[in-house]
Amino acid sequence: MRRPLVAGNWKMNGSRATIKALLDGIKQGIGAVAKAEVVVCAPYIYLPDVAAQLAGSPVAWGAQNLSTEASGAFTGEIAASMLQDFQCRYVIVGHSERRALYGESDAVVAKKFAVARAAGLVPILCVGETLDEREQGVTEQVVARQLQAVIELEGIAALADGVIAYEPVWAIGTGKTASPEQAQDVHAFIRRSLAAVDGAVADKVQILYGGSMNAANAASLLAQADIDGGLIGGASLKAEDFLTICRAAN
Ligand code: PEP
Repeated sequence: MRRPLVAGNWKMNGSRATIKALLDGIKQGIGAVAKAEVVVCAPYIYLPDVAAQLAGSPVAWGAQNLSTEASGAFTGEIAASMLQDFQCRYVIVGHSERRALYGESDAVVAKKFAVARAAGLVPILCVGETLDEREQGVTEQVVARQLQAVIELEGIAALADGVIAYEPVWAIGTGKTASPEQAQDVHAFIRRSLAAVDGAVADKVQILYGGSMNAANAASLLAQADIDGGLIGGASLKAEDFLTICRAAN
């Protein structure tokens, strides 16, 4: 049985003050959420505050990106070991904004997955098609290619050490959610493809849905057989909305 997982991706939002208030709200309401695993992925600079505030709580924390390199002359980058210094458990890799705005290729994303895994972090690997790709009917090929880059570098068993987030790019931050059936179709495709190679990995790996999931639509998405949780952008910035999604995952 896969444990449900709800991950908030705050992106480049918030301030010290708003993040403190957001975490106060989440901590106050999280008591009733026993089953689901809950994590917030904060901007790097707030990780020390987040770690201090969440230590001892049931909420884990993580980052939104990491370097492919261990240390050295890489101005502006953050290494896996630095995330460990602040007790991060998770790190998002290959978010569509990183792929589209910062030119991260499948190969770079696979390397980030590998580096995170080697450091004992749990990589949340984002995959998903653009609207153009969906309209061309190549959603499955795109998702398979993105997963294959990691499988080629690390082997399929490595995927069980991470989490997969299916995030159709056209649904991210647009308010346009994939229908539960559309999302389930792709999640089932991912699980089927993995099962064709390694049944145990397919059974174990959590596959999250991301893309305008909110307090109103979470329950119907999370009720799908192959949707094990959510990666939440906008709705993770409001404690009550985020908690409603966590309760739905429970
Ligand atoms: C995301 O950033 O991963 C995301 C799913 O954003 P939103 O929920 O705002 O669509």
